[in-house]
Amino acid sequence: MSDGLVIQSHAGPYPVTFHHGVPSGSLGLPGAEPHFLIDATVARLYAAQLRMVLDHENTIVIESVEHNKSLRQLIPVFERLVRDRVRRDHVLIAIGGGIIQDITAFTASTLLRGVPWRFLPTTLLAQADSCIGSKSSINLDDTKNVLGTFYPPQHVHIHAGFLDTLEERDLRSGIGEILKVHAIEGKTAFDRLAAEFDALLGDRATLLRYVRAALSIKQRYIEADEFDRGIRNIFNYGHSFGHAIESATLYAVPHGVAVTMGMDMANFIAVRRGLLPETHYQRMHPVLRRNYAGFAATAIPTDALLGALMRDKKNTSTALRLIFPVGPDAEIQAVSVPADALFRSQAEQSLGTLAG
Ligand code: NAD
Repeated sequence: MSDGLVIQSHAGPYPVTFHHGVPSGSLGLPGAEPHFLIDATVARLYAAQLRMVLDHENTIVIESVEHNKSLRQLIPVFERLVRDRVRRDHVLIAIGGGIIQDITAFTASTLLRGVPWRFLPTTLLAQADSCIGSKSSINLDDTKNVLGTFYPPQHVHIHAGFLDTLEERDLRSGIGEILKVHAIEGKTAFDRLAAEFDALLGDRATLLRYVRAALSIKQRYIEADEFDRGIRNIFNYGHSFGHAIESATLYAVPHGVAVTMGMDMANFIAVRRGLLPETHYQRMHPVLRRNYAGFAATAIPTDALLGALMRDKKNTSTALRLIFPVGPDAEIQAVSVPADALFRSQAEQSLGTLAG
């Protein structure tokens, strides 16, 4: 275990601890009665190390697909926990990626008006980004992340060994969020990361250094604006377009890869609207493109993309609220853009640049 972080939240401070390998036995967790919610793939891959969890009578195994992150699919989870006589002095323990996190955090925040939860993130995206920040997001049928709460965990336990079994698409998904956070940190941080891009996929020590760096950058923003009323909004950079790509492709593109595409689209549109010098688009495009290249040929129906973009929850009735890099330093800012024909044409053009 190495030095961790302590995140301040409205519910009090909570630690993030970093560990080598993967946990085993009883996971070294404190004594409250546990209810485990575990990703089905993790349960299969780590059956030996997680035997005590899998044999526990209060363990729910969930397949991590977006469909299972919907309100309807949560009902059996609530029913099972109630049947297992969950109490407020018990603890829900999430073991998985962002989907298991969202399911557990939302369930924990609403069941009995609040049951504590802990998180063992097993994907790069969850370790480097989503594990801190208090948000839970649940889909309502096809509308993504439209329900949610702010409910921080008691403790985040990051075990680097889980990353060993991730598929490349899920590594790239996490790298997408790491790229985003470093773009927010500024040009120097982004360019340094871009120069080490190959090492992110090939060298575990470099990747872990960036996991920690990404969490430290995000920590400053979530502590300043936990409830996302102001400065934290810029963490949606790449997300309005990214969510629209996920929705238009029926989730064929992983979340963080879609965010990488979304950043490239936002940069392109920012140049077209005179918000950003073209040199910044040219500077960032090669590394963004390298992260999403494997998905560049995915068919993204224009009408579905524009429709999803117009439904984004941050919009007002007449304008889109988008996050763009702005000005000579490419500072990431929220900008309101009229939902008009000009914007539609620019969005369509930016979509065209992804495949090229
Ligand atoms: P995920 O939870 O869907 O996991 C991706 C895939 O990796 C799944 O197939 C899963 O079974 C598999 N997997 C998990 N751990 C593994 C491991 N150690 N080895 C091999 N395979 C493993 O995806 P994710 O990228 O972690 O999360 C994406 C979700 O997180 C989206 O629904 C997104 O909306 C949400 N999200 C939430 C927040 C938040 O703050 N609440 C932030 C960002 C994203």
